[in-house]
Amino acid sequence: MNRVSVDTAGRPPSVDALARELALRHSLPHAVLVDIARRAIANGSLTDVKKLADELAGDLVQSLLREVVNATGVLLHTNLGRAPVASQTSSRASNLELDMATGERGSRQSTVGKLLALLCGAESAIVVNNNAAAVLLVVAALANSRDVAVSRGESVEIGGNFRIPEVTEQSGARLVDVGTTNRTRLRDYKKAIDKRGNDIALVLKVHPSNYKVSGFVEETPVRELATLSVPVAADIGSGLIDNTCPWLETRAPSWLSNEPAARQTLNDGAALVMFSGDKLFGGPQCGVIAGRADLVEACAQHPLARALRPGSTTMLAMQSLALSYLNRTATKEIIFWKMATINVSELRERAKQIVTAIGFGEVCELESIPGAGSAPGATIESAGIVIKGDYLAKLRMYTTPIIARVKDSKTFIDLRTVQPDDDQTLIQALRSLNS
Ligand SMILES: *Cc1c(COP(=O)(O)O)cnc(C)c1O
Repeated sequence: MNRVSVDTAGRPPSVDALARELALRHSLPHAVLVDIARRAIANGSLTDVKKLADELAGDLVQSLLREVVNATGVLLHTNLGRAPVASQTSSRASNLELDMATGERGSRQSTVGKLLALLCGAESAIVVNNNAAAVLLVVAALANSRDVAVSRGESVEIGGNFRIPEVTEQSGARLVDVGTTNRTRLRDYKKAIDKRGNDIALVLKVHPSNYKVSGFVEETPVRELATLSVPVAADIGSGLIDNTCPWLETRAPSWLSNEPAARQTLNDGAALVMFSGDKLFGGPQCGVIAGRADLVEACAQHPLARALRPGSTTMLAMQSLALSYLNRTATKEIIFWKMATINVSELRERAKQIVTAIGFGEVCELESIPGAGSAPGATIESAGIVIKGDYLAKLRMYTTPIIARVKDSKTFIDLRTVQPDDDQTLIQALRSLNS
């Protein structure tokens, strides 16, 4: 091993020798190891080149994208890719843009769009890369070089730098602020529409997903906005399809009671709704635009639509999710709804079995949260395991990383977000803490 150590003349190891030695401990491509060796030699002092190179290689291996077990109790964890979706493993081609009846070029949007439209009670729907893209496209297609009216209370930042004023500006539309930060009434919108010099093409209503204003506040509901002379596009954010949750065997969970839903928002008269695919819808990263056929078509025909279109993996996943909702099999097939509806007594039972298997820790009551800015402030009764000490980093280093939560020097494993298939992996990871 000593061939890469500093030689007696005090020369650093050669890049190639160092890369070859790194290969014994890190399974990374040779070209990557050569790059690491170069950087370590350039930045390390003569004595610690090898240690630095090992660290760089270890960090890189650790940072590679991989499957993890979400034990945080945050159902839609932004750092963990929001809603988990089963991956498609087939290597076959798909009829993504083949019209099966004629054999001619077809549209990737038509069938999935139809299913989604049916699901939301819309005339038509399309899928784009995310909800930010959906809002961008709607404003660009329907209000380019014209004005968009937005309540001052809804001119928000959703996180990850999605800011309504900036998105509007990027779309080539002019933002017209309406009302005040805490109260905006229908007459404020009317005044803005009637004001000389304004050319309002669209009212944009935005659900302030990730925060709550309380006290002397008033917003104008879609039902009232729909009486205005311009179409209303509602960014409902989380993608709850229907607030009665007809796909559940039980009633809609109470923690969803304040979330706007696509079907009801369209029923109330919104011309369009926009929402994320990877929040409460439980799908892959994408955005949906659903509503009036002529407006959805205007979005689909806009040049930006080409830049914002999702690939076949996303379209396939959205199709299978739409079918699960329509078949009322969501709680069996959609991982998000499984996590959301699993009975807490089952979680307690699993926790008991895990504690028995590992021989330490305790079963505890916990509160999960929906996450991803959905239903802010809402909690879901849960159960899991508590272990004295902070094992966050150790669990994260496990072969299949376990992402847990720490509070007051105790490690919490929330089982609501752990899929039952992963209990054995969890047991092995927890046992490894003792070794
Ligand atoms: C989450 C959210 C967005 C951004 O959606 P992405 O799919 O992350 O692009 C936009 N608007 C609202 C109201 C949201 O909740």
